[in-house]
Formats: sequence, C-alpha cells, structure tokens
Amino acid sequence: MKLFPRNTHFTFLVLPDGSKPALRFRVSAALLLVIPILISLLIVIASTLYLLHERNNRQLERLHLQLASDSEAHQVQLADKEALITKLQTDLVQLAQQADAVDARMEELNKLESDMKSLVGLSTDKTAKATDGDGVGGEQLDATDADIQELVDQTKSFYTSIGGEINELKNRLTSTTKEVQKKKQVLRLTPTYWPTESERITSLFGVRIDPFTNHPGVHKGMDIAGKTGDSVFAAADGYVQETGYMSERGNYIVVSHKNGIATKYMHLYKVLAHRGDSIEQGDLIGLLGSTGRSTGPHLHFEVMKYGVSVDPKPYLKMGIKGIPTDVQLEKRQD
Ligand SMILES: [Zn+2]
Repeated sequence: MKLFPRNTHFTFLVLPDGSKPALRFRVSAALLLVIPILISLLIVIASTLYLLHERNNRQLERLHLQLASDSEAHQVQLADKEALITKLQTDLVQLAQQADAVDARMEELNKLESDMKSLVGLSTDKTAKATDGDGVGGEQLDATDADIQELVDQTKSFYTSIGGEINELKNRLTSTTKEVQKKKQVLRLTPTYWPTESERITSLFGVRIDPFTNHPGVHKGMDIAGKTGDSVFAAADGYVQETGYMSERGNYIVVSHKNGIATKYMHLYKVLAHRGDSIEQGDLIGLLGSTGRSTGPHLHFEVMKYGVSVDPKPYLKMGIKGIPTDVQLEKRQD
C-alpha cells in the first residue's frame, strides 16, 4: 500500500503580511519523503564528523601532554648525563693526578732500593728522575673533548706501563733483598761495626811519634777516645779467643772471626766477655778505660789478618756508621 499515489504533488503557500503577494511552492510527494531522510543522513554524518573531530582533538591534546612530559623527562635525563660526564671528567683528572703521585711513589721506592744497596756497599743505578715540583696557577680554559681524550690516553698508558714497572721493581727488590742479606752476612763476619760509643779518633794506624818515647814507632791499631765505662762492642761475629791483662795492653780482649781475621780491644776498664764465648757483631764485650800503657781513657782497636796487624779503617768504612769525617788527632793515646 502506498502512502500517496504516484506523481502526487503538494503545494505550499507562504502568506507574508500586508500587501505582498503569496509565495507558492510545489513539491512532489516523493521529494517530501526524501528530504527528511537526507536531513537525517546529514545529521548522522555531521554528528559522526563532530565526534571524530572531538576524539582527534582529545588525542592531540593527550599527545601534546605526553610530548611535554617526555621532553621534560629528557631534559632531566640530559642534565643527569651532563652531571655524570662532568663527574667522570673530574674523576679522570683526579686519576691522572693520582698517577703522578703513584709515579712519585715509584721514584721513592727506587730511591729506597738505592739507599738500601748503598747502606751495605752494593753498587746502585743512579736513574732517579727529576721531579717538576708542585707549582700551580696560570690561565684557566675549559678542557675540550680532545684534551679529555688525550688525558684518557695518557692516564691509560701510564697505568699500563706502571703495572710493568711495579712487577719489575718487585723482582728487583726480591733480588736486592737477597743480595743485601748476603752482603749483610759478609759484613757481620767482617769487623765493620764501630766498636764504641764515641766517634773521636785520636790516633790512626801506621807510623807515628810514640807518645811515651817521642820516637817514630808503628801504631798497630786505631785509638778512639771516650769516657771511662763507655760500652765496647764486638766489631763482627766470632768467638772470644783470649782475655786478660798485660802491662802494655791493660785489660784486653781478642776476638777471632772468619777468614783469618781477629780483633783486639785494649786498655779496657773492665772485660765483660769470657774466653770461648760465642759473640755476635754489636755485642757488649767490655767497658772503655785507660789501663796499661795509656795516656787517657780510650779504646785501642786493632784488626789482624792471619796474625798481622792491618789498618782497621777500610773495614770500619764498610760498616753502617762508616768512618767519622771529623778525625781529631788531638792526643796520642797508644
Ligand atoms: Zn792505640
């Protein structure tokens, strides 16, 4: 059933106020049906477009917010990274400075090794480097990436080479320690230990004018002036061969050492060691005095090799104390 018959038309009259003529619209019934459908369709399309537009707007807004938030996070990250880079660069500079300190320490160790060798009379290599001092100041410029890279390379290369140097020094110190121990052992068996407290030499080994006869005579030892009761020490490891009293020697001790060497200690106030005692270098064996043929308190120290008196100076020179530079030949003491 049809609402209207085919080709039905409707006429609309618009009657304005006053004397204006009426407006007449003739519309077909079909058109009257299509128009509301079209209008509805337009409304649906418009609503859909509006909703889509709104949704896009919201999405865009969300994206903006997201972007702003991301950008802020990135700024924070960037600032953190920059702080980290600055810290790493500072650490690097400190590491490079520490490298200098390590280098200086290595020099100290090398010097200590030399000192240790000198102490026992071993030959040393004089290879100590001169240091540049601690001066600071000058124009301050920011370090460029190239500067930092150079510092990284230098520091890396330093730490690589110092590892090798430390190993080398360790090996050298091990061998030096062995050499020193060996030398120390030799020095312990040789009369190198300064035999009393005082360092005042008053008469050397050799020909001199005899203090009693005023005629040339041979002095077989070295006289070291001191106070009565001063300690007298064994000049090397050995055993007490003889002790006693003789009118010329006064109270005396003879100590026998290795390699045909013996030492004599004369004019003692008191003999503390006993015949046959095994003694070590530096042991207290007697007290200094002026007994026998003596003009005042002193130690007459004598070194003998295979029974012949020799100059004690070269032996004592090898010892830790060495020979005093200030020899005061003020008085002949015998
Ligand atoms: Zn003497």
